[in-house]
Amino acid sequence: MSASPGVNADLTASAVDPASVPLRTLADGSTMPAIGMGTFGSDRYGFAQVAEAVRGALKVGYRLVDCASVYGNEPDIGRVLSGAFGDGVVARDDLFVMSKLWNDSHGAEGVAHSVRRTLADLGLDHLDGYFVHWPFPNHHAPGVDTDARDPHARPYLHDEFMETWQAMESLVDAGLVRHLGLSNVTVPKLGLILRDARIRPALNEMELHPCFQQPELFDLCVAQGVQPVGYSPLGSPSRPERDRTPGDHVDTEHPAVVAAAQAHGVHPALVCLKWAVARGQVPIPFSVKREQYVANLRAVTEDPLSEQELAALADADAGDRLIKGQVFLWPGARSWEDLWDVDGTVATAPGFERSVRAAG
Ligand code: NDP
Repeated sequence: MSASPGVNADLTASAVDPASVPLRTLADGSTMPAIGMGTFGSDRYGFAQVAEAVRGALKVGYRLVDCASVYGNEPDIGRVLSGAFGDGVVARDDLFVMSKLWNDSHGAEGVAHSVRRTLADLGLDHLDGYFVHWPFPNHHAPGVDTDARDPHARPYLHDEFMETWQAMESLVDAGLVRHLGLSNVTVPKLGLILRDARIRPALNEMELHPCFQQPELFDLCVAQGVQPVGYSPLGSPSRPERDRTPGDHVDTEHPAVVAAAQAHGVHPALVCLKWAVARGQVPIPFSVKREQYVANLRAVTEDPLSEQELAALADADAGDRLIKGQVFLWPGARSWEDLWDVDGTVATAPGFERSVRAAG
C-alpha cells in the first residue's frame, strides 16, 4: 500500500502524514500500517460516536481500521468509509480494513453469511484482513455478565475449527478477503492450525501491552511469519466492568512506562504505543477523542524510545491478562484459564476429547 495522504485529508498542524507511519511487511510481501484504529466501544461509546471517531481518524492519517461484526457498528462505519472514499479523504487501496467472524457463526454457512453481511455493512467488495474472533463456537447476547454460560458452548475442537478455517480459505480464493487472521489463540492451537492450514494465517490478533507481552506466542508468530496485531495496547483503561478483576495491573501506572513518559514529555499511553511498534506488533488503540487519536498516531512517527527504555519495558511483563473470556467457557471447563491452555496443551473436557485426539 502506498499510504497516500488523500486529496482532502486533514493536513493541519495536528494531523499526521500517512506516509510517515511505518509499514509492516506480511508473509506474502504486501504491507500494512504499523498502527491502526480500534472500534470496540467498550459498551461506553455509542455506534455513531465510534463511527465519527473513525471519520476523524481517517482525516488525520489513519490507514488501518479494526472492525468486528460483534461490535455492532459496522453499518455506521460503512457509511463513514463510503463518505471518506467519495470525498477523496482516502482511496480504498490505501486503506487496510479488518473485520472478524463472531463465535455464533463458525462453520461453512456461518462464514459465508457473515462475510457477506460485514462486506455489505462496511460497503466494501473485499476485506484486507478477516479474523476468526475467538476459536470457540458459542452464542451470547452482547454485553452479558461474566457468569453467563452457553450450555451448548464447545471447547476448541481442531477438526471442527478447520472446517471453519477452510471456509475462511475459500473467501481468499473468491477474492473477498486478502489476508486471514486468528485471534485469541494459544501456542498449541496456533501450532495445530499452522500444521493443517492450506492458506496460513497472515495475522494474529492478541492481547498485547507492556504488562501482558505473551512472549512465547509472540515469538512463535514472528518465527512463522504471522504478523502479531496487539489489542488493548494501552491496557484497555475503559474496558467494561465484566473485564475487570481485582489486582489487574495498570500499564499507564507502571514505573517503567511512567519514567519513559516523563523523559519524553508525553502521556504514558503513548509510551505503550512507541514500545508496541518498536517491538513489532501492530497496536490498534481505540479512542473517540481527537486529541488522543492524533497523539496515538503521531507517537509512532517521532521520538522513539531508547534501548534502555525498551529494556525496562521488556521487564514490565507481569503475565497479567485483562480479557479473560469467561463467558466462552464450555460445560465441564474448570476456569477461564482453560481458554488459554496454560499447561501447554489444548484444554478440553469430558465428552470432547475424541475430536482433539483425532487432530494429533
Ligand atoms: P485500548 O488499550 O486501546 O484502550 C482504549 C482507551 O484508552 C480509550 O477508550 C481511552 O479511554 C484511552 N486512551 C486512548 N488513547 C489515549 C491517550 N492518547 N491518552 C490517554 N488515554 C487514551 O483498549 P481496547 O480494549 O479498546 O482495545 C483496542 C481495540 O482492540 C478495540 O477497540 C478493538 O478494535 C480491539 N480488540 C480486539 C479484541 C479481540 O478479541 N480480538 C479484544 C479487545 C479489543 P477514555 O475513552 O476513557 O478516554
